Amino acid sequence: MMNIQLTVPSMMERAEKLFKKKQVISRSTKGVDRLTYEEVSKRTRQLSSMLVELGVKRGDRVGTFAWNHHRHLEAYFGIPGIGAVLHTINIRLDPQQIIYVINHAKDKVLLIDECFLPLFEKIHHELTHVEAYIIMSDEPVLSSTSLQPVYHYEQLIEKGNDCYPFIQDLDEQEPAGICYTSATTGKPKGVVYSHRGIYLHCMALGLTDGVGLSEADVAMPVVPMFHVNAWGLPFAAVWFGTTLVMPGPFFTPAILAELIQNEQITIAAGVPTIWLGLLQELENNAYETSSLRALICGGSAAPQSIIQRFEEKFNIPFVHAYGMTETSPLVILSRLKSYQTHQSSDEKFSLKAKQGFIVPGVEMRVIGQQGEVKWNGIEMGELLLKGPWIASEYYEDERTNEAFKDGWLHTGDVVTVDEEGFVKIVDRTKDLIKSGGEWISSVDLENALMAHEAIFEASVIAVPHEKWQERPVACVVVKKEYKNQITKEEIIQFLEPQFAKWWLPDDIIFMEEIPKTTVGKFLKRTLREQVLQHYELKG
Ligand code: ADP
Repeated sequence: MMNIQLTVPSMMERAEKLFKKKQVISRSTKGVDRLTYEEVSKRTRQLSSMLVELGVKRGDRVGTFAWNHHRHLEAYFGIPGIGAVLHTINIRLDPQQIIYVINHAKDKVLLIDECFLPLFEKIHHELTHVEAYIIMSDEPVLSSTSLQPVYHYEQLIEKGNDCYPFIQDLDEQEPAGICYTSATTGKPKGVVYSHRGIYLHCMALGLTDGVGLSEADVAMPVVPMFHVNAWGLPFAAVWFGTTLVMPGPFFTPAILAELIQNEQITIAAGVPTIWLGLLQELENNAYETSSLRALICGGSAAPQSIIQRFEEKFNIPFVHAYGMTETSPLVILSRLKSYQTHQSSDEKFSLKAKQGFIVPGVEMRVIGQQGEVKWNGIEMGELLLKGPWIASEYYEDERTNEAFKDGWLHTGDVVTVDEEGFVKIVDRTKDLIKSGGEWISSVDLENALMAHEAIFEASVIAVPHEKWQERPVACVVVKKEYKNQITKEEIIQFLEPQFAKWWLPDDIIFMEEIPKTTVGKFLKRTLREQVLQHYELKG
């Protein structure tokens, strides 16, 4: 067979030949911009040509610091299109971490949303390799800034060549992108994505039993473009000619619901906290959502109760998926097998709440204390992964040795696998509660708690215990309409029939809010500190 290089620019070339008229719909600070793929591809080439003018060379890193919008999409292709490396920076990292990742990646040019100018004015003197700032603005003229040299995105690309040729002699193993983990402990770790890895991962997004993304879809990545490349959706959508809807800056559940209704979204992707917010919005106000054929949910465990409410109340199919920054991210996805669709609704929803089975192309092993675990849904072990879109190292980071061993990525996630191959994430190794030599899954308790009608969010953590080593404590946020209407005892009584006695939390703490990570996951490290402080103050 021909040895063809699998590259990112070839995806954009396909869109501009086949899907000229298809649209990218992008919410901005002023309204909604509608561009055709023809326009987007011309603008992308203009950007490529101007990056070259600014001195960006093959292999150089170019950072983006932005929300999900069409200019960010242009950067997704315009940067790899000249053989440079797209570094999508997490806008919610703290300033020290932002400085760290920009310097560690040695970003040469930064593309920044205008709303983040004040931040960069504070930190720019600490950025060691940045030679130019390009500001992505909805305004015709840039507000005054101390950043130097600085360019207005629109004014810059206007001077560019809209026929500029993408680089032709790329090796598929060359880097196309780099993304840092949100690292809840320690410094963020860099993961480099090759052209080949992105290309093959997109193919998996197109598989019918995968995400099944197609030309006929209207896709809305709510997951940020700095969170594992918005799960690869922008790349795949352009390649397949899918209509893309970008939710833009500072969106709310109501804005998402309106976009779903007005743009007839068929597929949307985000973390559970996003869908929890949307669910509340749909329960409180009427929207037309029948266009949706899948809500893809990953990043942390989706509680069964949420899946059930979306499917039963709103007839919105919910697809649970699992992945990591290190895995591009899609590796496991929950779809019922043909012979499982006739099961009772309880059985179906409990399967859908599992993360699912491994997608074609990726291999897994699960290693427990006695070696490979049995597929019986009970034995627990660490999930190991291998495949063409799984990273083989961290970028210039000695922590590579901890996670990558013998050709496998050691995920740090503890899982069970049932007879049908459905993987269930029991916990992250560090979040498991070790009580009297046995393990308690914080995820299982959280899911059960969030199924209670009065509870909006729940997070369960381990607190040290003299006799049992660790014991679970649940932190819950009660829905507004149930404030002061529910007691700790009632919550424990609700859990009792569902768990062994020793699994029940020793305490329930009512909170206004649960601290979250930069990508909307429960921040258990901070929560643990708050809980210990709470007990010290009480004690
Ligand atoms: P970070 O490691 O900084 O949190 P990632 O987004 O790469 O950033 O997180 C990957 C981790 O998220 C996985 O190792 C796993 O613990 C968790 N995760 C991802 N998807 C799911 C899911 N569907 N259910 C439970 N946990 C998940």
